[in-house]
Amino acid sequence: MLILTECPECATRGFVDQRFAGQSGRCKCATEVTVPMQPTVHLPAGRAVPVVQVSESFMEIPTIGFKGPFRSSDSGQFRLGWEGSFEIALTARKKGRIILLSGDTLLWQKSLQDPVFGVTTDAGYIAVHDGTFSETPSGVLYILSPNGEELVKHRFRANIDSCGFSDDDSVVCCTTLASERVADSCKMTVFSVLPARMLFKRERPVGNITRLAVGQQTIQVTTDGGIEYRCSLDGTLLNEQAVKTKLEVLRIKNGNGYDLLGVVQSRLSERTFDQMSPPQRYEIVRIFQKAQASDISDYCKLQVCRMLGEYALSYNEKGKALIYFQQAIELNPKAGVKRKIKQLQEELPTSG
Ligand SMILES: [Zn+2]
Repeated sequence: MLILTECPECATRGFVDQRFAGQSGRCKCATEVTVPMQPTVHLPAGRAVPVVQVSESFMEIPTIGFKGPFRSSDSGQFRLGWEGSFEIALTARKKGRIILLSGDTLLWQKSLQDPVFGVTTDAGYIAVHDGTFSETPSGVLYILSPNGEELVKHRFRANIDSCGFSDDDSVVCCTTLASERVADSCKMTVFSVLPARMLFKRERPVGNITRLAVGQQTIQVTTDGGIEYRCSLDGTLLNEQAVKTKLEVLRIKNGNGYDLLGVVQSRLSERTFDQMSPPQRYEIVRIFQKAQASDISDYCKLQVCRMLGEYALSYNEKGKALIYFQQAIELNPKAGVKRKIKQLQEELPTSG
């Protein structure tokens, strides 16, 4: 695991390998910085319990009346089980609970409101998404130490979508769904584990997070769409242009007609058609044509026809322009292109 280290002089933060705890090095501002020692966690002795693993993700422990889902740490040493409202509906209990097993030893159990999902690392650290019975969207993220001590309790005024650890267990990332509370709506919040504190909260990535990797000064988030977001430890997106390009490619590939129109609109807001290079113009026309062939409203199709007609005119491709303007008229006789059609018909040699 990595330890978050902060320079007392210039506040530069960075992750350092846990093996360097207690040692010091020089920050770029020349201040000597000591990597903080982390308190040793003493696991409780616990007691052996009969664990019945019902399936890959569900277990029962008759002696403590536990029935619920669980997740193993990668090595399989720890198992975190939880009982939320769904599991406790059949019992007399009013609250949910989580339990931590090391092998078949029950280390501890803890009451929570309505645990929905949890994960544990090979070192026994835990991230849990606890539900609330509130009427408005909300959820609580807990980060717990291996002995059950509460390190972070962060309440979101939005439903929690996912939570999990990075590859090396050094940070926890939590994403939220849309909510009226703007500060928490569709956010990605990242916490360090050693020491446990919030690093940043920013707009969540598009898609589901499939991988989280921590570097000295960066956090890299990969989504199921194959997009990589590289963030600094204060949440600044370091590869904004690359993300934007990748998102556009995805929208063009998988999006509906309106997504396509959105892509064109965003490109035209950066530079006008006239200011674009020939390949850029070709792309615009190609995306417009794809949108035109998709399921968009007649009103939008009409606008696209007019735009394509104008572009064709700017290339002096009068025949093409005429076709687009005629399509516009077909969509709406009051399209306002009659004069242009008449002019083009006069200029173009009549065929047949
Ligand atoms: Zn410094």
